[in-house]
Amino acid sequence: MAIDLHAHTTVSDGALTPAELAGLAASRGLSLLAVTDHDAVEGVRAARRAAPTGLEILAGAELTVHVADREAHVLAYGIDPENEDLVAALGDLARWRVERARAIVEKLVGLGIEIEFDDVQRVSGAGTIARPHVAIALVERGHASSLDEAFRRWLGRHGPAFVPKEALAPRAAFDLVKDAGGVPALAHPGTFRRDDLIPVLVEAGLEGLEVRHTEHSAARSRHYETLARDLDLLPTGGSDFHGTPGHRSRLGRPAVPDAWGEALVARIHTPR
Ligand code: AMP
Ligand code: MN
Ligand code: MN
Ligand code: MN
Repeated sequence: MAIDLHAHTTVSDGALTPAELAGLAASRGLSLLAVTDHDAVEGVRAARRAAPTGLEILAGAELTVHVADREAHVLAYGIDPENEDLVAALGDLARWRVERARAIVEKLVGLGIEIEFDDVQRVSGAGTIARPHVAIALVERGHASSLDEAFRRWLGRHGPAFVPKEALAPRAAFDLVKDAGGVPALAHPGTFRRDDLIPVLVEAGLEGLEVRHTEHSAARSRHYETLARDLDLLPTGGSDFHGTPGHRSRLGRPAVPDAWGEALVARIHTPR
């Protein structure tokens, strides 16, 4: 069997609905799929409804935390999607994202680019609004030929239309996740590229590390597998599947050991 512990849907910046994602996961022969939309858990229930027998859907979300002036992504595994504090906090994050998308559009307009917030909102639909939605709107308006170009020219961390997200402090985020029954894991440390900050996150309550990821080379995966063992973190892995044009991720790739999923699920069900 195969598992994938990191995937997005239309509830955030993925191209497939939660039901479509569950269907694709089943067709790829996955036995465990974590639905991890940015700052949102609304996709979990629909994915579960659509999942055939033999495919378990793990409730998840990908949160942002601020640490040492950097954004780190945190995967929250096994959270209760009905937890009131969690749902309230995610609501705040979603509202901040709307404000930020407006600020990004204002910056773009200031740079002489014709784009309106409505263009972006049409792309994002009902889900959480994220930079790829702005990128798609820029492509649709003919200002860029690909999402990647839109990120390189304007939206990336060093781009002229970059606006940082509001985010939680690590300990606040980890407490929120744990109080909702979940396990927090650092997403794609290989793109975060601040190994020195991982012990700081562990001190704040981090419990897992995404060892395997689309953007990790084999050498990098081995490096993080060793680091996870040394820091007593649960190893996790996933594709970070988005399904949007130009996104490299493929659902179910890279391969993730079943045992990692089993250990994660066991930790989720262990009262702390
Ligand atoms: P946000 O959460 O609004 O800051 O948006 C971050 C998301 O942008 C990430 O989760 C990726 O899905 C996406 N992203 C980052 N860089 C690129 C890129 N070069 N091309 C396409 N999507 C990207
Ligand atoms: Mn994304
Ligand atoms: Mn991420
Ligand atoms: Mn992701």
